[in-house]
Amino acid sequence: MAEEMRYFSTRGGKETLSFEEAVLTGLAPNGGLYIPTHIPTLPTNWETEWSSLSFPQLSHQILSLFIPTSSVPSEDLENIINSSYSTFRHPQTTPLRKTGEKEYVLELWHGPTWAFKDVALQFLGNLFAYFLERRNVDGGKEGLTIVGATSGDTGSAAIYGVRGKPNITIFILYPDGRVSPIQLAQMASVPDPNVFCVAVQDADFDACQSIVKTLFSDSKFNSAHRLGAVNSINWARILAQIVYYFHAYFQLPAEARKDVRFVVPTGNFGDILAGWYAKKLGLPMGPLVVATNENDILERFFRTGRYEREDHLPEMEQSSETAVVDGGSDGKQGTSASGVKPTHSPAMDILLSSNFERLLFYLALEQTGKREEAQEKLKGWMETLKHKGRVDIGQRARDVAKEDFWAERVSDEETLEEIAKYYEKKDFGSYVVDPHTAVGLAAQSRSMKKAPEATWVTLSTAHPAKFREAVDLALPPDLFPSFDFDTQVLPDPLRELDGMEKRIYKVKGEEGVRELIESVKRGEQPSLNGHAGSI
Ligand SMILES: *Cc1c(COP(=O)(O)O)cnc(C)c1O
Repeated sequence: MAEEMRYFSTRGGKETLSFEEAVLTGLAPNGGLYIPTHIPTLPTNWETEWSSLSFPQLSHQILSLFIPTSSVPSEDLENIINSSYSTFRHPQTTPLRKTGEKEYVLELWHGPTWAFKDVALQFLGNLFAYFLERRNVDGGKEGLTIVGATSGDTGSAAIYGVRGKPNITIFILYPDGRVSPIQLAQMASVPDPNVFCVAVQDADFDACQSIVKTLFSDSKFNSAHRLGAVNSINWARILAQIVYYFHAYFQLPAEARKDVRFVVPTGNFGDILAGWYAKKLGLPMGPLVVATNENDILERFFRTGRYEREDHLPEMEQSSETAVVDGGSDGKQGTSASGVKPTHSPAMDILLSSNFERLLFYLALEQTGKREEAQEKLKGWMETLKHKGRVDIGQRARDVAKEDFWAERVSDEETLEEIAKYYEKKDFGSYVVDPHTAVGLAAQSRSMKKAPEATWVTLSTAHPAKFREAVDLALPPDLFPSFDFDTQVLPDPLRELDGMEKRIYKVKGEEGVRELIESVKRGEQPSLNGHAGSI
């Protein structure tokens, strides 16, 4: 019998947590991230036995390697997984589309909000609900109040993850008037009474984020309402994402599996880290390609070995992610204060990649060989990063990292060119991609020159309808007269959002947010002082 899987913090401490505790805690109290005590072993015949499994079946196999049955009995896990992926529109959940002789796109956006974060957040929402229900089995009243800030895309995936779930209430704050119509419509049209879409007046994204941080660090408020975060550092999110790398592998023709390379549009390093775990588990693949936009801290790291904020300012709030739904700026507004460059791929606009700490831990472990020493080393690196805004982890660690990762930086201009290039594609059909996917595809075409024999799979992280502005810029009517976004890109369910009733709670500042949360918790029905009806 293998040692039972537990979880520990990257930044030290001898204690380990159960899967349930790691998921409910999210971020470790010492600022570290939870990682599994060991990388499990695949069953000997995984390649033949798993090859024809459906996505949920494959998910059950892989997740069971990390979740002991003492934490979630096998049948319960199966039910959680099945309901999580029953909301996906495509029979293959995450289908592979062929775009060239040896080129594929892995479409991860067939879930309820048309973006890849659904793969993890549908699962996390069901997991939260399951744990709370189990804790309340004797009539208890444990609940979770999820509070997050977003300026667009990610808020909706979080809302769809927990809508209608007993014992969970979710408040998503966004800067009033600064979210794109489609993103706002997605959030505000959810009718479930446990969902609160909160427009903070006269605020930008940073202001919303800072309100959330203040609430989380107010221990009285926090414990009174049991605040929870759906942030991208939650271990369960990484775990759920490992599955589609295996699923993609099995969808490839046998011949193509010999040298597979994945290209991942990267922001907080969650998606690609899941790919790295798949590689460590033994899924055959070449180096993973980190595709960044102009916020290129990761690309610079793989070039220089220095993990360095571009603005050289110390990162004051390294653990800010405890409080936000998404570490990406997630929008194009109000970014100057934080030093992030607004780009056409806003979900990847980051200063620091929160999940990168997990990889850094493994690089430290590679040097020290012992968990405690690696934790110490990592803690030192994170301290240096916090105080100096940069850390040099040395040539050797970088060389180790480069065995598993290549990196490419893609400019805004190239992003738009790539969208046009795929739209004009003749051989495997015209294909409209979203700007995040386009960053991946541009990185892929550069990487292909370095490994012409390989088979390429680029992860597509959002449906193009969610990023109309960039798609319209890439395909202007004077150059592409036959292109029409409304008829060629916009799917009916997103079009129909327009006519649906919206619920928005307008508030002013931190006080307004507190009052809203408190009144809901007292069981009152706060008045809808936002614009119900069309936006
Ligand atoms: C969140 C997001 C990404 C980045 O994923 P990470 O796990 O943060 O690296 C890329 N594209 C889209 C559309 C996203 O929403």
